Amino acid sequence: MLIDLHAHSTASDGTDTPAELVAAAVAAGLDVVAITDHDSTDGWADATEAAQRHGIRLVRGIELSCAAGGISLHVLGYLHDPTYEPLLREMDHARTSRTERARRITAKLAADVPIDYADVLAQVHQGATVGRPHIADALVANGIVRDRDEAFATYLYDGSPYYARHYAPSAVDGVRLIRAAGGVPVMAHPFAAKRGRIVADDVIEEMAAAGLVGLEAHHPDHTPDQERHALDLARALGLLVTGSSDYHGTGKVNRLAERTTPQGVFEALVGRETASPLVGA
Ligand code: AMP
Ligand code: ZN
Ligand code: FE
Ligand code: FE
Repeated sequence: MLIDLHAHSTASDGTDTPAELVAAAVAAGLDVVAITDHDSTDGWADATEAAQRHGIRLVRGIELSCAAGGISLHVLGYLHDPTYEPLLREMDHARTSRTERARRITAKLAADVPIDYADVLAQVHQGATVGRPHIADALVANGIVRDRDEAFATYLYDGSPYYARHYAPSAVDGVRLIRAAGGVPVMAHPFAAKRGRIVADDVIEEMAAAGLVGLEAHHPDHTPDQERHALDLARALGLLVTGSSDYHGTGKVNRLAERTTPQGVFEALVGRETASPLVGA
């Protein structure tokens, strides 16, 4: 069984539509794929329909933006009730703040390079969660950089003079909200320092105490040392260990199935909740 539990669609900053993501998962030989857009479940319906058509198992998920002590972090949530109001409110708040933050980043960039917010909006699918990758795409479209990677390396990295933050719930609240919605929270790329500042282990301990179920130790952005540290911490805290690609389509080099989760771990994750809205064969 090939299982990839972290992938993005045009409902956030991926370049494949939800149906294209599912088709790409089939083409990559996956048996199970999760759709985990940033702060949004908008891709679920189309992905579900496509998964039924293709006979692949889809795990409906999100990647919830969170923060701890001014450090941004991401919590994957699987199989939760998408109508649970308290979680919806936090995701709405984060999405609104992301849009406003993209305006601020773009305004700072506009002082130095030819770009305006309309260029960014032109890169965002209707209703999608706005992220820095959309600003990157606008920089590419305007001929300022070659690709998303160069945009991040030059202009959009954490700590860049053009960087700005957005609202996000605390990590502990994020874990609690996903649990309260009947979902399974797994911390994404916990030690991927190349993306920006990472939290100390005690934050993850607090998240574990709040109901965190797993750590995504196997992730393309982890060095071998970071992966090992995640494995050690997961063992110490009694957390499950997942592996995923964090596929974003053509915009980011990650390939579907380049990291995977063993079947036993997947079954343990799904088994954490009784309601398991999995679809497909
Ligand atoms: P944001 O959510 O707006 O803070 O932007 C973070 C998103 O940008 C994450 O989904 C990352 O996968 C993506 N990202 C970070 N670094 C890069 C990079 N070098 N190239 C492409 N995408 C990136
Ligand atoms: Zn993303
Ligand atoms: Fe992430
Ligand atoms: Fe992601």
